[in-house]
Amino acid sequence: MLFDEVNRCMYCGFCESVCPTISLGPHRGYGPRGRVNLIKEILKNNTITEEVLSSIYSCLLCNACNLVCPAKIDIGRAVREVRAIINNYNKQSIKKKIIIRER
Ligand code: SF4
Ligand code: SF4
Repeated sequence: MLFDEVNRCMYCGFCESVCPTISLGPHRGYGPRGRVNLIKEILKNNTITEEVLSSIYSCLLCNACNLVCPAKIDIGRAVREVRAIINNYNKQSIKKKIIIRER
């Protein structure tokens, strides 16, 4: 289950050293550790901000982070799965009560 997988993150940060996007974003939300923990928040609270979308959709799905993650989280797949969930939310945004906040 996706939540159980991302919940294994131990915040070690090893994945950040290999991510090509982390240095391009304004903060660590644009790296794998940030994305993994945003996915956890999305699944727990159903709250999606513009910044969360920016973080999730700026992932290149290169899977470099997967290779160094000691918790064996398949981060690229987790990002793909949460994108599918977000797309579904967008279609049913009223029913699912998704909050999309502008910064
Ligand atoms: S899959 Fe995404 S989070 Fe992982 S290293 Fe590549 S760009 Fe970064
Ligand atoms: S390497 Fe894995 S366990 Fe460590 S911070 Fe990144 S996602 Fe979490």
